[in-house]
Amino acid sequence: MSQEQDQHNLVVEELYAESHEWHVNAGEETIHAKRIQGKFRTLKWLAAATWVLFFIGPYMRWNGDQAILFDIPGRQYHIFDLTILPQDVWMLSLVLLFFAILLAVVTTLFGRVYCGFFCFQTIWVDAFTWIEGKLEGAPGKRRKLDKAPLTLNKFWIKAQKHFAWLLISAFTGLSFVAWFTDAFQLWVDYMTLSASATEWGTLALFTAGTYILAGFLREQTCLWLCPYARIQAVMLDRESLIPTYDFNRGEPRGRLSKGETVEGNGDCIDCNQCVAVCPTGVDIRGGLDEGCITCALCIDACDLVMDKIHKPRGLIRYESIDALEGKHVPPLMKRSRVLVYIIIMTLAFGGIIYGLLNISGLEIKVLHERQPLYVMLSNGSIQNKYELKILNKTHDDMYVTVTTGGLDGVELIGAEEPFLARPGKVTPYTVYLRLPRREMDGSSLSVYFQLQGVEQPELRSTYESMFLGPR
Ligand code: SF4
Ligand code: SF4
Repeated sequence: MSQEQDQHNLVVEELYAESHEWHVNAGEETIHAKRIQGKFRTLKWLAAATWVLFFIGPYMRWNGDQAILFDIPGRQYHIFDLTILPQDVWMLSLVLLFFAILLAVVTTLFGRVYCGFFCFQTIWVDAFTWIEGKLEGAPGKRRKLDKAPLTLNKFWIKAQKHFAWLLISAFTGLSFVAWFTDAFQLWVDYMTLSASATEWGTLALFTAGTYILAGFLREQTCLWLCPYARIQAVMLDRESLIPTYDFNRGEPRGRLSKGETVEGNGDCIDCNQCVAVCPTGVDIRGGLDEGCITCALCIDACDLVMDKIHKPRGLIRYESIDALEGKHVPPLMKRSRVLVYIIIMTLAFGGIIYGLLNISGLEIKVLHERQPLYVMLSNGSIQNKYELKILNKTHDDMYVTVTTGGLDGVELIGAEEPFLARPGKVTPYTVYLRLPRREMDGSSLSVYFQLQGVEQPELRSTYESMFLGPR
């Protein structure tokens, strides 16, 4: 027997040696998934790295302030130079709509990619089980340790693990709270025990939530608690590209005999490696399963096996069910569902861009006094009274001027000096318009008020109102 053949047999023996350890998850025990290298594992790490933004985001500064701050008590959101107040909330709705539809499109095309690669639950579970692996060893060792009686050594190992989990959970909770208040001050408040009850409560809730969901419930969260898993069936169709087992090529599955494929068997050698790496304990060979989060780790596992037994890769691969069954799969842009999603996304995106281009740091609203609608002055002029509501959406005090236009001969009283507009607030001011009686050629004339920043003249806002008089 050649050295190469010996090597091959050894590899196959290794595969089967542990195959009995892997079985489909029925929720009765903790899943200890095997970790292997592969392109989808690398992709998963890269996707997880985007969550670094969640931790460092609150510490980013912009013009001396927190770059992104969701100021709930102040009912305003600061995103770099932009301040979004409750009246601009329609833009946030469009942003949410855009991302909801984006999620639907991606799911239609590639299944639960979000769950497999970007979801905080699966990423935190991945991080927690990585720590578990470092402290407790390979999956087999972990299972033994779980079943072993409590000794000092077991207690010490478990204590370290739970301490690390709690540390990550607490840091997750703190990072969450930091998006809603000054992040640096928050650390001081926690360290000096002077944080508010809401800050303590949210920290406790998120710490406990992360610890329980990622440490204990793990894939059960995806199976039983996550609503998205329930609605995925509506978004997926037979043309969706998802990790799929090629039953044409793999079946009838059967174990190798003396390291060789048995005549008449398919390419699946029933080694269970695809089940071993699955974080939700699914056997993908059973078809589409609601426990599958499409992380594609089983593709990595099976490709490695195929390399070892010198068969082409791709027994498990991204493929649609229709394509596997030899049916025609239309190109992406010819699928009606995709087209509808893209139209909605384009409209939402257009609305967001419109909002961003037109949202101004200054806004003026004008309320016309109703009691009385006008007064006749002794010199024969007609006077109307207005309340200006000046909204300063920037972070600093601002002086603004108010002028009028659109009505010849009208005089603005009360706005001779610039007004002070407080940041993030509506500041009210009262002004009057006077018009000689002879200029009044109707009972209602159109007039507009224009607001402009003194030091930032590019910030301006206009409001159209009415000037009223006798018939
Ligand atoms: S599909 Fe691949 S990894 Fe899974 S049992 Fe068959 S050969 Fe092994
Ligand atoms: S079956 Fe494959 S793609 Fe689905 S969750 Fe398991 S490893 Fe990930």
